[in-house]
Amino acid sequence: MEHLVRPLSPASVVLDLGAGPGSFSYAETQARVLALDVDFPGAAQDAWARVLGDSGAIPLGEETVDVVVCNHTLEHFPDCRQAIREIDRVLRPGGSLWVAVPDGGCLDDRLYRYLFLGGGHVNRFSLASLVEAIETSTRLRARSCKKLFTGFVYLNPPDPEKVQYYPPRAQFLARMPSRVLRTLLRWLNYGVRVLDRLLRTRLSQYGWAVVARREDDSSSPATRLSRLGVESGDTNVCFSCGDGHVEQTLKPDRILFLTFYRCPNCGTRNLMSPLREFPGSD
Ligand SMILES: [Zn+2]
Repeated sequence: MEHLVRPLSPASVVLDLGAGPGSFSYAETQARVLALDVDFPGAAQDAWARVLGDSGAIPLGEETVDVVVCNHTLEHFPDCRQAIREIDRVLRPGGSLWVAVPDGGCLDDRLYRYLFLGGGHVNRFSLASLVEAIETSTRLRARSCKKLFTGFVYLNPPDPEKVQYYPPRAQFLARMPSRVLRTLLRWLNYGVRVLDRLLRTRLSQYGWAVVARREDDSSSPATRLSRLGVESGDTNVCFSCGDGHVEQTLKPDRILFLTFYRCPNCGTRNLMSPLREFPGSD
């Protein structure tokens, strides 16, 4: 989403909807960032304003926001269509919505929902249903889409304070030795990418990041969906922090026939992805 928020002027407004600790680094933009959520963790980033509120009734006036960020939140909203109508209401003409959601049919989301008894995911999207939800009854039109890859970050050893909230079937994550679990996770990420490359499966898919604009476009939904360019995202996703990285920006470290890299964000050693692009047609 950096390409949307970096060029904004200090007079612009970004709404981080379902912000939690902050969906992106607020220092990336000169714009005023308004973080909205039903609750904020103690370690939340400093924002221009933090507002307690509901996505179904955004406490802002019409056409007051330049960019809305919905980073892995739409799948949690009980009434996501109402939230999207609210986004449409507060966005200025020409404003943008950036939304990332999991693919409801992929391994990552299915495993997450199984281990965490739903894990708060109340909406299950395909790309077509996501675009349909964004565009129906709004002036929002999907303009670009990027496929996202998983790091299976939720399988990391849990924070001791959070283990009590884990369902029994996920408690094994706390019982396994941390070093063993993280080693398995490193190889899981590598293994699914090897299988995807060899078998053209999509085990390493996470979901999509879609950019929609508030603009007039009277073409049919089917035409717009067929026009939507879908590009492949970064296949190197750190299993520890979930940051995705372009391979050219990573320093390879070869040991025998394997190539490792250290995540530029958290320093964790990962195996370099053997995938260059997303397999399959969707
Ligand atoms: Zn990392």
